[in-house]
Amino acid sequence: MVIGADGVRSKARELVLGYVDKPKSSGYAVFRAWFSNKDMIQDPRTKHFCENGDTFNGWIGPDVHFLFSTIKNGQDCCWVLTHKDDADIEESWSFPGKLEDVYKVIEDWDPICKAIVEKTPSIVDWKLVYRDPLPRWVSEHGRIALLGDSAHPFLPTSAQGATQAMEDGVVLAVCLKRGGKNGVPASVRAYQDIRYERVCAVQKTGETTRDLWHKADWEKVAKDPASIQMPREDWIFRFDAERNAEEVFSKIVEVN
Ligand SMILES: Cc1cc2nc3c(=O)[nH]c(=O)nc-3n(C[C@H](O)[C@H](O)[C@H](O)COP(=O)(O)OP(=O)(O)OC[C@H]3O[C@@H](n4cnc5c(N)ncnc54)[C@H](O)[C@@H]3O)c2cc1C
Repeated sequence: MVIGADGVRSKARELVLGYVDKPKSSGYAVFRAWFSNKDMIQDPRTKHFCENGDTFNGWIGPDVHFLFSTIKNGQDCCWVLTHKDDADIEESWSFPGKLEDVYKVIEDWDPICKAIVEKTPSIVDWKLVYRDPLPRWVSEHGRIALLGDSAHPFLPTSAQGATQAMEDGVVLAVCLKRGGKNGVPASVRAYQDIRYERVCAVQKTGETTRDLWHKADWEKVAKDPASIQMPREDWIFRFDAERNAEEVFSKIVEVN
């Protein structure tokens, strides 16, 4: 069998579906930057972000959020600014961005945001695209299976794309092992059936977390600051994909 794990711009996807599934604009874009801490540590307003190991900070405004983190023990800096964007995505959805556009979004914000952005040598303007869930991840004869982003791209606000790709890999391995060499197509279909609904539900969290931040009820947040934290839900984090696949495999193959 062939596993199409060729990422968000997958060519294998077309082989499985029989048509080109184009991404759609989500109505949002992310300005993204990654740079060394060298100018940050020269500035008394920003050096504390890099001096004592890694840090993670976020600022939320109306329909926009800015996340800044330091990585590699404070050596590198990274930020993302997710904001409304209606640009046409037909041509390209990732290209160099302009810092003036970032300044427009963060005008009147906490001045520390500008102090961070000023140190940024260059940015990427990355349109956030999404796809409706694919009708299937497995080819008609059960010999090609999509896995990871090629089957199900995630919005960054879910922070689950890589973990769900790994769960796919574990479940596919369990199914192939359980089905044996003579049962490959049935095992590959069982992989899709075991994974499909869970992945669609996790994909939705990309939208719900974005809306939690972008359409925040600030009176509620004032009473309960924890309500704005990134959700870490047990049904996602405490799930044992391998054990679950072992438990349900026989039943699913029987039904199919
Ligand atoms: C900024 C950012 C932050 C993220 N943060 C998180 C996070 O916090 N948590 C999380 O779980 N996920 C996160 N993700 C998502 C995660 O990176 C992806 O979901 C994950 O990498 C998908 O894995 P994949 O193996 O399906 O695809 P990829 O990692 O894209 O791998 C696909 C591979 O296939 C190769 N390839 C493509 N076409 C061909 C071809 N024709 N022939 C041969 N090789 C080919 C590519 O070069 C690539 O190596 C983040 C993504 C981004 C961009």
